[in-house]
Amino acid sequence: MSDRAETSLQYLKGVGPKRARALESLGLKTLRDLLLYFPFRHEPEQGELPIADLVEGTVATIRGSICHVARRHPMLVAEVDDGSQACELRWFNATHVARNLRSGATVIATGKVKRYNGILHLAQPRVEVYPPDADGPPNPVQPRLVGVYRVNPQVTNAGLRAAIDTLLPEAEAILDEPLPIALREARDLPDRVAAVRGMHQPASEAELERARRRIAYEELFLMQLGLAVRRRHLLDREHGYKLRITPEIDRRIRARFPFPLTSFQDDALREIVRDLADGRPMTRLLQGDVGSGKTVVALYACLLAIAGGHQAAIMAPTEVLAQQHYARIEQYLRGSRVRRALLRGRMKPVERNRIIADTEAGRLNLLVGTHALLQSDVAFQSLGLVIVDEQHKFGVQQRVGLRTKGVRPHCLVMTATPIPRSLAMTVLGDLEVSAIRGAPPGRGSVRTRIIWPAKWHEALAALRPRLEAGEQAYFVCPAIGGGDAEEDARKKVRLVTAEESFARLAEGPWAGLRLGLLHGSLKADEKQAVLDRFAANELHAVVATTVVEVGVDVPNATMMVIENADRFGLSQLHQLRGRVGRGRGDSLCLLIARSRSAKVRERLGVLRETTDGFRIAETDLKLRGPGELLGTRQHGLPELQVASMVDDFELLELARDDAFALAAEDPKLMRPEHKRLRAAVRRQLGDRLTLLDSG
Ligand code: ADP
Ligand code: MG
Repeated sequence: MSDRAETSLQYLKGVGPKRARALESLGLKTLRDLLLYFPFRHEPEQGELPIADLVEGTVATIRGSICHVARRHPMLVAEVDDGSQACELRWFNATHVARNLRSGATVIATGKVKRYNGILHLAQPRVEVYPPDADGPPNPVQPRLVGVYRVNPQVTNAGLRAAIDTLLPEAEAILDEPLPIALREARDLPDRVAAVRGMHQPASEAELERARRRIAYEELFLMQLGLAVRRRHLLDREHGYKLRITPEIDRRIRARFPFPLTSFQDDALREIVRDLADGRPMTRLLQGDVGSGKTVVALYACLLAIAGGHQAAIMAPTEVLAQQHYARIEQYLRGSRVRRALLRGRMKPVERNRIIADTEAGRLNLLVGTHALLQSDVAFQSLGLVIVDEQHKFGVQQRVGLRTKGVRPHCLVMTATPIPRSLAMTVLGDLEVSAIRGAPPGRGSVRTRIIWPAKWHEALAALRPRLEAGEQAYFVCPAIGGGDAEEDARKKVRLVTAEESFARLAEGPWAGLRLGLLHGSLKADEKQAVLDRFAANELHAVVATTVVEVGVDVPNATMMVIENADRFGLSQLHQLRGRVGRGRGDSLCLLIARSRSAKVRERLGVLRETTDGFRIAETDLKLRGPGELLGTRQHGLPELQVASMVDDFELLELARDDAFALAAEDPKLMRPEHKRLRAAVRRQLGDRLTLLDSG
């Protein structure tokens, strides 16, 4: 790597300490930083035009001689004539241009064409001025693409362009080429210096596109290589139990279920079983819509671990869900010799202690509880498999907490939020991913309708006959104090609360029906009591604040109403909708939208069209971006300057294949031809990746 790359920007001609400080406010310190600071878009600039041909509203370049310069405070005005016609150049507060402007000088000016009081002018133009006695100006300016950079009040685009213009001729001495030549040839990528030039000052759209593709590939490739190295490292270092399946074990496990597994479940199981037998700890994500049959797949894996003489643990995000898993498991395991227990938050100490002692002694085979299970005082004799049910979060957090003593257990994370493949490959890039892409047979369909506030009464009254006939409904309101609370306050969006809705329903369209209310301040057992009554069909409907609270399975519930649906993400809505349509009857989902913007219509419209969770997640990603989709900021989204997870999906796949292939051959990037690559990965990932150094 060249020293010149690390040289401070203040030593660049025309920059100096003061402007260097300004550039630092954009995070630019070294010459390399500046070269790699790319425009976020490009503006087409026409070549020089006769003034007579200028079109208002466009950005244009003209060349003419100055007839007259005048200061009309705070404005500076120069009149230019090019023989075809005259026009003005106008600046506000622009003392620095005044120096060179003189009558008789030749000027090349680029700016937005405007007309004010009938006078044609260029507003705030960039100019190059050639004194009357100097050599003529260079060749006519050709049409070109001009980079537009992200700037701030301290740095202008013009200033940035000038600095880059000065620096670009040196690019060869500053930048090195991290990508191995073989890869560049195979993928038809221009070399790095050419690509950097093409990003800043492309000669054509085609050159820009080639440059962009190369830079985006490089970003994605380095990111994937980091993941690949980490993955290889884990695989090489840690060992898990080898859990082998036999036809006899398979037969006995399947006999536990009162139905044949779907082909989708079998597909996922094949991948899981392969991992379990491999001897290296599995870290796999199992995705599938609510009701697609993940729990059954997970239980299969648990029984396989138990058949191999090890223990299994199932962890759910809430006590209610843990209980529900346990109840389901009880149904399947009735009469089996598998010893199992549910560890609750609040239990009699004797009971709890007995479970803990039995777990430690290996007398218990299967333990179900909340995510607190592994952090508590529970020690397993031989934990072979951990199932983490993330429900509607992404399986990132718990992975870290899973390091237990001795042999590392296999880990299967279940999530009902389908994650677009591109995100799974980046954020969760070192996990394997399986998906259950279709529901078990015998489900009714769910019809989805969008309701505008004016139709509120009418739409809800229409559900009444079905409620009276014994079907049940959820009515969900957005959580108060959720992620968007601040933004909502700023925009003065008023969210409809569960309490309010409850009152409106009870006094209006659902008067006289038995309604339950679940709001944030209820205690866990109070919530449970409401849910129990709902599950027992003692309530016609339950009005709830949050999403987790409706994470229950009530096949008789056939109607889902979502208030302020425009405030939820698509994936979240899709998940809520998955709460109905679990029985055989046809279900209904009403989305009450309180904003009529085109964007809201488009977003909600997607739900009306499809029930494919993966398609919905892809749309969510396109419309809201990865940060929003992931819900929190702590998910370690890679910083991508040029590449887009949405638009560059194919490139991402390519880069991933290449990176994993390379890491398989040279896991620590020790080969001489990978030396610069190694440095680049380390630079990109910084502290997050010390594995390249470890022995
Ligand atoms: P998930 O965990 O993905 O929400 P579950 O495993 O809880 O899904 O399954 C949802 C429902 O579908 C349960 O009632 C379960 O008994 C049923 N089910 C699961 N797999 C099948 C299958 N292959 N055939 C029929 N019903 C199934
Ligand atoms: Mg489930």
